[in-house]
Amino acid sequence: CGIVGYVGPQPALQVVVDGLARLEYRGYDSAGVAVLGDGALRTEKRAGKLANLRRALEERPISGEGAGIGHTRWATHGAPNDVNAHPHVDNGGRVAIVHNGIIENFAALRLELEEQGCKFLSETDTEVTAHLLSTELAERGDGDLPAAMRAVCKRLEGAFTLVATSVDDPDLVVAARRNSPLVVGRGVGENFLASDVAAFIAHTREAVELGQDQVVELRPDSVVVTDYEGNPVEVREYHVDWDA
Ligand code: GLU
Repeated sequence: CGIVGYVGPQPALQVVVDGLARLEYRGYDSAGVAVLGDGALRTEKRAGKLANLRRALEERPISGEGAGIGHTRWATHGAPNDVNAHPHVDNGGRVAIVHNGIIENFAALRLELEEQGCKFLSETDTEVTAHLLSTELAERGDGDLPAAMRAVCKRLEGAFTLVATSVDDPDLVVAARRNSPLVVGRGVGENFLASDVAAFIAHTREAVELGQDQVVELRPDSVVVTDYEGNPVEVREYHVDWDA
């Protein structure tokens, strides 16, 4: 439903939760975040309103100096509960991912991954993408998250925006889209992405709209967009001049 990602010097958790609050108008049934710091991935997710997530974060604070991602979910596969809320994490706890849309071929992919030994925690279509990413990263052995994301996207059918982070590259957020919205917000020494500019308009009005079947690699000082083959693509940059 709603997606937010952040890389830069501000505390990512705050930026991401504030961004999710800006997307509340869309309606959702659960919310969650993942932030990176101290070589660890920290996640919190809760069914219900953002207030439930905020309360959980007060009771069990998480912090990180690295990237952050967040999600508000509108359940399509699996009940709206804490476990099915996003982010979803691979079995090694190294990769976190959030997803808008539907992965149509998730059942076949899940079977294949279970046969390889992956343990699934949720009933979502989304969770296959966490295991696919970590399997791809393990096969590559070079820690190249954008390349792994491109390979994963080629295996997916359906509509999706995917946003992922990895403990092995804490200043990086990688996102991909197919038939589901994704916009980048360019800052100075920091960058944002979201399903809607409303999520980051308090920080920057310089936006980059992604095309279909593109992958974006977001670091504090760079935004690199490619197609699923890894070829650089031209993107449309624009200034948001209305008030969210
Ligand atoms: N299909 C996913 C799920 O049910 C994502 C739903 C959404 O777009 O929020 O978890």
